[in-house]
Amino acid sequence: MTNASPSLAPSAPAPRAAPTSSPFQFFSVEVLRAERITPAMARIVLGGPDLARMASAGRDQRVKLFLPRPGQSEPVMPPAGTADWYGAWRALDPAVRGIMRTYTIRELRRAPDELVIDFALHAESDDASGPASRWARSAVPGDRICVLAPVEEENGGYDFRPPDGTDWILLTADESALPAVASILDTLAPGTPARVWIEVHDPADRQELATKADADITWLVRNTSPAAPDAIRAAALPEGTPYAWVAGEAATVKAVRRHLVGERGFDRRAVKFSGYWRQGASEDNLMEAAENA
Ligand SMILES: Cc1cc2nc3c(=O)[nH]c(=O)nc-3n(C[C@H](O)[C@H](O)[C@H](O)COP(=O)(O)OP(=O)(O)OC[C@H]3O[C@@H](n4cnc5c(N)ncnc54)[C@H](O)[C@@H]3O)c2cc1C
Repeated sequence: MTNASPSLAPSAPAPRAAPTSSPFQFFSVEVLRAERITPAMARIVLGGPDLARMASAGRDQRVKLFLPRPGQSEPVMPPAGTADWYGAWRALDPAVRGIMRTYTIRELRRAPDELVIDFALHAESDDASGPASRWARSAVPGDRICVLAPVEEENGGYDFRPPDGTDWILLTADESALPAVASILDTLAPGTPARVWIEVHDPADRQELATKADADITWLVRNTSPAAPDAIRAAALPEGTPYAWVAGEAATVKAVRRHLVGERGFDRRAVKFSGYWRQGASEDNLMEAAENA
């Protein structure tokens, strides 16, 4: 299958809209390894014959995953080569078609080619979880999924683009955006000043984040630390021109953005914000809402 359609374009809080003509392609992949890197984060390493063609901009490079439903050995997808894959996917029986979810390339490795995706396990039981989190919790080698991913490094599927003249970087995330923040930190130039706030559920979910940036990372443990907007409100921020990248639960993202633009006077064009999920709404609900808007 070739070519992409919705929601790989730069995303605002309701991130599932605008088509893009950027170069994306379907990849059929299988789980090579599944590990728990922290109690609430599963790292799934995927492989496949075509992975050499997959590209990534790094940073917050997003992809679409298509997951099988219970009882299926692989996701049901439109026939290979369908021009309007999104229309064709939508036309499939919703009870049967692959479950589409948005994730971040944590790492695209070479020699051997491996795609790494980190899944936040966002509920303690399968019943309370969504299908993607549930799939990752029980994934084993050989499980098959489909990925819609770029085939060119420069593509419309990432947002972290600080303009020339940026003096320092502000990043905030929860578990869902932690893979993106980790990848952004990986790619920052040595010495780049960065202030980072990451919310997790439990202290054991903090990770070692490799970076050459001059990064000051604050871990906020939910129900113990202040929430991200309050923590940022209380912080002394560096002088100079900032660029902010803010992602996670939609209401928190909105509150952080409002503070940065409204109270701190950040240039709104220098605040990239993205609701990665919304309390009480599945990604299917958000997609429907975006389509009906
Ligand atoms: C651009 C982009 C990149 C993303 N990258 C990643 C990534 O790399 N890793 C990752 O783990 N997530 C990532 N997400 C978030 C992920 O797509 C959502 O969390 C998604 O809803 C998970 O699907 P699900 O099937 O598990 O749950 P859904 O079926 O979509 O939702 C089921 C229920 O779970 C709740 N829920 C969904 N996500 C969370 C959460 N994180 N915490 C608590 N409750 C939740 C919903 O509100 C809903 O009530 C990304 C989202 C976007 C838009």
